Amino acid sequence: MNIGIVGGGITGLVLAQRLSHQGHKVSVFDSNKQLGGLTTYHDYGLFTWDRFYHVILPSDTHLISFIRDIGLGDKLRWHRSLTGFYDNQKFYSISNSIEFLRFPLFGLIGKIRLAFTLLYGSRLNNWRRLEKILVEDWLLKLGGKNTYEKLWKPLLLSKLGENYKRISAVFIWAYIKRLFSARDSSLNKEQLGYVSGGYKTVFDHIEKLIYAAGGHIHKGIAVEYIAPHPEGGMWVEYQGKKEHFDKVIFTGPVNILQQIAANQLVKVSDTGETVEYLGVICMVLITRKSLIPYYVVNIADRNVPFTGVIGMSNLVSLQETAGYHMTFLPKYILSTDPLLKQPDDELRQVFFQGIRLMFPELKPDDIVAAHINRAIKVQPLQVLDYSSIVPKVSTENNDFFVVNTSQLVNDSVNNNAVVRQVDEFLKKSTLLNS
Ligand SMILES: Cc1cc2nc3c(=O)[nH]c(=O)nc-3n(C[C@H](O)[C@H](O)[C@H](O)COP(=O)(O)OP(=O)(O)OC[C@H]3O[C@@H](n4cnc5c(N)ncnc54)[C@H](O)[C@@H]3O)c2cc1C
Repeated sequence: MNIGIVGGGITGLVLAQRLSHQGHKVSVFDSNKQLGGLTTYHDYGLFTWDRFYHVILPSDTHLISFIRDIGLGDKLRWHRSLTGFYDNQKFYSISNSIEFLRFPLFGLIGKIRLAFTLLYGSRLNNWRRLEKILVEDWLLKLGGKNTYEKLWKPLLLSKLGENYKRISAVFIWAYIKRLFSARDSSLNKEQLGYVSGGYKTVFDHIEKLIYAAGGHIHKGIAVEYIAPHPEGGMWVEYQGKKEHFDKVIFTGPVNILQQIAANQLVKVSDTGETVEYLGVICMVLITRKSLIPYYVVNIADRNVPFTGVIGMSNLVSLQETAGYHMTFLPKYILSTDPLLKQPDDELRQVFFQGIRLMFPELKPDDIVAAHINRAIKVQPLQVLDYSSIVPKVSTENNDFFVVNTSQLVNDSVNNNAVVRQVDEFLKKSTLLNS
C-alpha cells in the first residue's frame, strides 16, 4: 500500500518505520526542515544534541524495544544518575535509600508516609476516580504536609510551574506508575539512558531505513489539505501539488487537523471546554565545568526563575558534547503566557539572576554559551475531569486515520507512550485489513 503520513515527529516516524518494515511504501511530510518535532535536535555550535532534555527510563520498554528493533540497541547508553533537591540555597541528594532516610527536610513519619504514597500509587489502577481530586489534596491526604511541601510541591513546580494547583491527581499517579512499572530486566533500576548522538541518531537512521524501503520524506513541507478521492484513497495537497495515497495517517495536533482535513473526514466533538496547554522556555547552558552532580534537581525556592535544573552531562558522556558540560534550565508556563514571546536576551537576563543565586561560584569565564529554546505546546494541562473535556476525534473515512498524543488522557506525554500507542494502533486498526 502507498501510505501518506502527516507529521515527522516521533509518532509519524515510528509509524513510518513500522509500516515500511511491513513492506508498505510510505511518504512522510513535516512542515519543519528538520525531523523530530518536539524531540528534535539542535546545533549548539560546538556539538549537536537534543533541543530539549530527553531521557530513557529502564521502564520505557516499548521505546527500548523500538530502538533495538531498528538496529540501534548497541547505541543505547545507561548511566547511574543522581537526584537532588534545592531549598533555601542548599542542595540535597536523595538518590538512594540511605540518602532518602537521611534526608533532613522531613522526619521518619514523613518518610513512612511517602513510601506508602509510592506503594499505593503504583498499585492503583482506577485512574478515573483520581480525575476528580486535585493533585495537591491527594498528596496531602496520603503523605502529609511536610512531605508535600518539601518533596512533592518542588517536583510539581519543576514539571508544571504554578499550574500544578489546577491539576488532577492523575498527573502524579501516571508519574509514579511510570517510575515503578515493569522494567527491562537487563537494566539496573537507578540507571537512566540515552542514545549515543542523541535523538538525531534515531531520526537519521529511520530516514535511511525509509529510503532503503522505497519510501520518501518531504521535509519543510506543510500539508495544506487532505480530502477523500472519489475513486478511493486520499488526496494530500501541498505547495500547489496533489498526491494520491491509498491511506493517510495524521499525527499532528488537533487544531491543525481541523484546519487541513476536509469537512467530511473527521468529527471533533465539542465539549464546550477549552484544553489549555503548557509551553516551555528552556535555557541550555554550555559550560567548561559542571554545575551540579545530579541529573535532575527539583527546586523548592520560589526566588529561582526556572522550575528545575537538568544536569545532562551527568547522564551523557562528555565525549558526546565536545568535552563541554550541558545543563538545561526549563521554565514551564501556560502556552498563552506572553513570556514565551519575549526576546532571547531579555530571557537570558531573567534566567541568569537564578543562575547567580544557585551557583554563585560560577564565573563568566566558565560559561561558553547560553541558548534559549522554546516550545509553545508541550503537553495539555490535565485538569479535573480532563478526559471528558478532551475533544474526541473520530475519522469518518476508512482510508484516513489520526494517531496523536492528544488522546493520552491517563499518561504523561512521553516517547514510550508514543511507541506503545503506535503499536496498539497498528494491531487494532483497520488500516491494514481494508
Ligand atoms: C522540554 C521537554 C522535555 C521532554 N522530555 C521527555 C523525556 O525525557 N522523555 C520522553 O519520553 N519524552 C519527553 N518529552 C516528550 C516528547 O518530546 C514527546 O512525547 C514527543 O515529541 C511527541 O511526539 P509527536 O510526534 O506525537 O508530536 P510532535 O513532536 O509535536 O510532532 C508533530 C509533528 O507534526 C508536524 N506537523 C504539524 N502540522 C503539520 C502539517 N500541516 N504538515 C506537515 N507536518 C506537520 C510538526 O512539524 C511536528 O514535527 C519532552 C518534551 C519536551 C518539550
